[in-house]
Amino acid sequence: MVKSSALGYPRIGTDREWKKALEAFWSGKLEEPEFNSRLQKIRLNHLRKQQEKGITLIPVNDFSYYDHVLDTATMFGIIPKRFAYEGGVVPLSVYYGIARGTKDAGASEMTKWFNTNYHYIVPELNGTTPVLTENKPLKAYREAKEKLGIEGKPVIVGPLTFLKLSKGYSLSETDAWLDRLLPLYVRILQELSSEGVEWVQIDEPILVTNVSAADVQRLKTIYETFAAAAPNLNIMLQTYFESAQHYSDIISLPVKGIGLDFVHGFSGNMSSIRELGFPKDKVLGAGIIDGRGIWKAPLREKLTILEELAAFVEPERLVVQSSCSLLHVPVSVEQETKLSYELKDALAFADEKLDELVLLAKSVFREGEEYTGELEENNRAYQAFKRSDKRKRSDVQYAVAVIRNQQLERSRPFSERRIVQQQNWQLPIFPTTTIGSFPQSAEVRKARQLWRKGEWSNEQYAGFIREQTDIWIKLQEDIGLDVLVHGEFERTDMVEFFGEKLAGFAFTQNGWVQSYGSRCVKPPIIFGDVAFTGEMTVEETTYAQSRTTRPVKGMLTGPITIMNWSFVREDIPREQIAYQLAYALRQEVEALEQAGIGMIQVDEPAVREGLPLKEDDQAEYLAWAVKAFRMATCTVKDTTQIHTHMCYCEFHDMIDSIEAMDADVISIETSRSHGELIHSFEANTYNKGIGLGVYDIHSPRIPGVEEMTVMIERALRVLDPKLFWINPDCGLKTRGFEETILSLKNMVKATLITREKHSSTV
Ligand code: GLN
Ligand code: ZN
Repeated sequence: MVKSSALGYPRIGTDREWKKALEAFWSGKLEEPEFNSRLQKIRLNHLRKQQEKGITLIPVNDFSYYDHVLDTATMFGIIPKRFAYEGGVVPLSVYYGIARGTKDAGASEMTKWFNTNYHYIVPELNGTTPVLTENKPLKAYREAKEKLGIEGKPVIVGPLTFLKLSKGYSLSETDAWLDRLLPLYVRILQELSSEGVEWVQIDEPILVTNVSAADVQRLKTIYETFAAAAPNLNIMLQTYFESAQHYSDIISLPVKGIGLDFVHGFSGNMSSIRELGFPKDKVLGAGIIDGRGIWKAPLREKLTILEELAAFVEPERLVVQSSCSLLHVPVSVEQETKLSYELKDALAFADEKLDELVLLAKSVFREGEEYTGELEENNRAYQAFKRSDKRKRSDVQYAVAVIRNQQLERSRPFSERRIVQQQNWQLPIFPTTTIGSFPQSAEVRKARQLWRKGEWSNEQYAGFIREQTDIWIKLQEDIGLDVLVHGEFERTDMVEFFGEKLAGFAFTQNGWVQSYGSRCVKPPIIFGDVAFTGEMTVEETTYAQSRTTRPVKGMLTGPITIMNWSFVREDIPREQIAYQLAYALRQEVEALEQAGIGMIQVDEPAVREGLPLKEDDQAEYLAWAVKAFRMATCTVKDTTQIHTHMCYCEFHDMIDSIEAMDADVISIETSRSHGELIHSFEANTYNKGIGLGVYDIHSPRIPGVEEMTVMIERALRVLDPKLFWINPDCGLKTRGFEETILSLKNMVKATLITREKHSSTV
């Protein structure tokens, strides 16, 4: 039988027991030895599952205590100087300090893992001297072998990818850093080799992006060094998320296997192979089962692809793989009891994907023999869902077809809107606001549970939400904020909330995936045409507005974010899904405006992560993303102020698109990147309302007045004070009650100082 492999397995566990263990440990409820043994149990369970299902090359060291990039950095002793670290194996206090911040030291920046919603901790190289603190892959390999008799395949983040994802060095220092890191990698590989390890998977997803000629040269150095140092170790050089650039260079590297993505990089990788073939001495890791989507694979079509690939490799040189780690999909469909039979039957999460991998591995090279029954069954479910009427809404299809060809523009340009808006709102300079959510306390979560279980009536729950809103409207006034929010107490999640009110969505009970650290999200499933079915936010927003004379911003999640944070159907283009969402949201924007809400924020934190990895494809995506945003927001009056919010700092390459969205005010997260964004505004002017987050909301730390004042001043060197807003980095729902109040009070103090200082110049 052909070999099968997943490139990694979800960490969180069937019931998110991983998350629960981490949080219990952080809160001091779990001692370290007990914590370790709990995580070990979870880890071994995952390996056992793959073993039982019949996966032949089981990844090890894909498990993590937080994030695999942080694991790599700490394994190399790359610890920012602000943390007290004295060498040796990195203690958990330091490890989690880097991830989450400590009392004295801010956390490292975190950012999106390529175009996914997984976030990794960005290694900070400056001032560090890499040493090998422990051989984590070896430890993982030994554990799997001793406990379960598994011949595991250690997974390691490759040197080029690691360097490219790190910060704290200049381009000209790249080779020097490579020289420091390579000996450490070599030691790891040599130790694995002498232990008798057969395969290691070295992840180099950076190779699907536009790497330079110099990097290709580095790639050669790296893998030639490895081949010379550990000649008996089989390296699977693994790429994913897109087709590999520089295919011919990659296949001539002295490695034993090349892993390619035949789902998200299908056409590129396929044409490379067709054109340039595949070397006779290498193993092909064929990433054929989607590691990111949740739908059953059409196994017949997959077999056809494998058969085409089989023309280039014999059975011994083929590994049937997931396209990437299964980290990006939920654990198992089995737990879902509330989905329609038809939909459930069309889904495959991590465990079901393992089955698909094994079935494909069994079937390839021998279709028409014993496995056709299972293939038929798979095909039946797939086709039935594809044809289902529940997916179609002709009214929506018609409306979207018309609207997408209209001029999607506000009636006047920003320069004119700005004047009437200022007359209307009379805001002070440097208006203060927040991003939308306030702490979702245990009390709030409890109330929601009671309501969901039917123990609370709708009225009781609505009354509770109003009380929370009252508390926070009063608090916001006392703190001295200028533009208020209702607090989003009725929402668990900014996407789920809207999905539940729109047609075309379905929800799992347990379809969680890791987003960052212990934080998991449960993306809705967009299975059909999306349609507005009634007002979604008007009641809570107008209630909040009735409690104060200050403006309350309405709060919606934008079309691109809803799409990027959902699992979407694959039978129509993403662009089409985005327009359907935009059309639905436009109806909500209009309803809010009609109800007297004059500031409406349409959050688009996920625009960036949908950006295609290949530069050539980016302009097209950005064009329809911008169009969707405008479709949702362009029909409002001039006086109505449209806000938007985005997370993360890497906007330098898309400032034009942000500008084109034509929001009156944007708030962007910046504090963890220590002003890198500000830097990008030096080169690109931005001439609309803008608030750069002045403190990090991912950390429980209370920011000081002084540090925020410095942050603001720095921004004002490149941004127009008349257009500048002051706000935290992101929503505050994950924070505690007291810490939120203290932080916002400090933020307002910093604002008053800034106003005082600039009063004469503005
Ligand atoms: N309005 C949302 C909130 O405040 C925005 C969250 C986000 O950007 N991720 O929670
Ligand atoms: Zn945000």
